[in-house]
Amino acid sequence: MTTPFERLLVILDYDGTITVDDCNEVVLQQAVGDAWRVSDEAMQRGEISPNEAFRRQIGLLRVPRPELLAMTVAAARLRPGFRDFLAGLLDGGARVVIVSDGLREAIAAVWERERLPAVEIHASELLGDPRTGYDVGFNTLALACERCEHCKAHVLRHVRNGEVRVAVFGDGDGDLCLARHADIVFARRRLAGLCAREGIAFHPFDGYADALAALEATAASR
Ligand SMILES: [Zn+2]
Repeated sequence: MTTPFERLLVILDYDGTITVDDCNEVVLQQAVGDAWRVSDEAMQRGEISPNEAFRRQIGLLRVPRPELLAMTVAAARLRPGFRDFLAGLLDGGARVVIVSDGLREAIAAVWERERLPAVEIHASELLGDPRTGYDVGFNTLALACERCEHCKAHVLRHVRNGEVRVAVFGDGDGDLCLARHADIVFARRRLAGLCAREGIAFHPFDGYADALAALEATAASR
């Protein structure tokens, strides 16, 4: 067996990166209509952090916990090519870690539903209950940085264990600090714009059909 991805650490955002949609936004729209957009717009204007926006949005939900998790799982559709991409990475010797602000239980349930090979998941916990209001318990490894309330780069620093290369896949504001620390970046949506602005080279992506080949090419060039 060849191992082109030996000592490669692949960090994957989840919502909008592994999945087609942001599953939380889909659930919020179903459960509370446009009410969640108030904090989303406040975040876009830079008035509150993305983490605070997510906390306020989750706090709007009054759906019982099992139903909320089931809705979040149902909203998840994998991006084209993801299954083969993941299998190829693991077969090739890569270590794959999901670093997400999304709900860990929902991500784990999607993994089970899709019968995907196990990966490490660093994500958030759903706290509280629908009566008093839900809250988000962000990953305790994600300490603050000068830019983020809960920085994913801290999670990367914690999980990195001797790997010589880091590849990052992301789509959002919260993935920028990961991209800054990566050797190879795959970016879409807002992250692509932020990388362009900061002069961080990236591969644009929508599906995963070409991602394995791009990673192999960079491995071979070293
Ligand atoms: Zn940060």
